[in-house]
Amino acid sequence: MAERITSLDAIEILDSRGNPTIRVFLSLTGGKTVSAAVPSGASTGQHEAHERRDRDASRYNGMGVLNAIASVRDDIAPVLVGRDPTDQGAIDDRMCTLDGTPNKTRLGANAILGVSMAVARAGAFATGLPLYRYFAPSQSYFHLPVPMLNVINGGLHAANALDFQEFMLVPHGAPTFAEAMRLGSETYHALRAILATRNLVTAVGDEGGFAPDISDNSEACSLILRAIERAGFQPMSEVALALDPAASSFGSASSYDLSKSGGGNLGTNGLIDLYDSWLGRFPIVSIEDGVAEDDWAGYTEMTRRLGKRIQIVGDDNYVTNVKFIERGIREKCTNAVLIKPNQIGTVSETIAAIELCRNAGWNAVVSHRSGETDDSFIADLAVGLSCGQIKSGAPCRGERLAKYNRLIEIEHELGKYAVFVSPFGS
Ligand code: PEP
Ligand code: MG
Repeated sequence: MAERITSLDAIEILDSRGNPTIRVFLSLTGGKTVSAAVPSGASTGQHEAHERRDRDASRYNGMGVLNAIASVRDDIAPVLVGRDPTDQGAIDDRMCTLDGTPNKTRLGANAILGVSMAVARAGAFATGLPLYRYFAPSQSYFHLPVPMLNVINGGLHAANALDFQEFMLVPHGAPTFAEAMRLGSETYHALRAILATRNLVTAVGDEGGFAPDISDNSEACSLILRAIERAGFQPMSEVALALDPAASSFGSASSYDLSKSGGGNLGTNGLIDLYDSWLGRFPIVSIEDGVAEDDWAGYTEMTRRLGKRIQIVGDDNYVTNVKFIERGIREKCTNAVLIKPNQIGTVSETIAAIELCRNAGWNAVVSHRSGETDDSFIADLAVGLSCGQIKSGAPCRGERLAKYNRLIEIEHELGKYAVFVSPFGS
């Protein structure tokens, strides 16, 4: 007999920054209980779906999620109990209608997403499939994503003077995902040794990358390049570099303040000139949010100038929302989109965003948030939707490794049906 949802509940847990977040539990008629936990960003896009927090200063500095838990218990559970968990689209639609606001402000996107993820897990269980296969049940071969490992943290993710938020390794020239992780991890350790030799701090930032007290953004790239060589890998063809400057954190349309790192003030063109000059110096294959979220013309200009040579990813400007991605496609703003389920708030809308990218011939890069949990949902999502790339921080810290280790497991389980192909050539 088909499984039905018998109960939904939620509890307040802590994320990797020690802030409260929500874990949802969903039980089925057969007695199985599944759960899902929701992450939280720091450099959030202005138009992200609403993260419901209590604003009660007497608990967790106002960041408690008891009201979001109440949304699950009092609003969502009564309308979902009795439903078939494989009805993902209709269930997600129902929650959006129940919320009734454009940005999920009434029930909270954290409450809705927690339920939506738990429903997907329950649906996979009910059909007897692993979660990744549940997303594409008739597919035989599955693509493992190329990992983007954030090994130097700056911007809003670290207390150093780097303006740019993420300096990532892209170990794409490997035969398998597991081997790519070896390249990434060995380079990460080479980087640690280089920093230690230079008496730079080797403590890590929010996403497990190092947060050395250097202030020159290009020096971060130089250090990583040296680490790739020291680890014995070929820069670019085996291990390349990707950046997420997260430019909204140091500027807005056409004005960028790089004074923290001594880079002065730059206009959009000056900033693109800087990236352009780096393409000749460093093995960069991808830049995300090179300009600020409201600098739509800047994205278009950056893509016009650099988009044939590298991947240009939009994150804060799109917030995993088809409405903004459609505008991006019309205006040729980027050639790739970062996909974060909690920016939009349901699994179905996340999948719609990925499919829109695919139809436009754009890459979709599945991403964690800087505040994470041990939930590895996005690993299955990236494989099931054949996204080709995932960023989940450094190869360090349990909440980051939960995703990478899940991908190693999936690859092992798939055996010869696992495909690992670089979107960047080799
Ligand atoms: C990002 O900007 O891509 C990111 C992962 O950071 P956050 O979760 O803080 O938005
Ligand atoms: Mg980003």
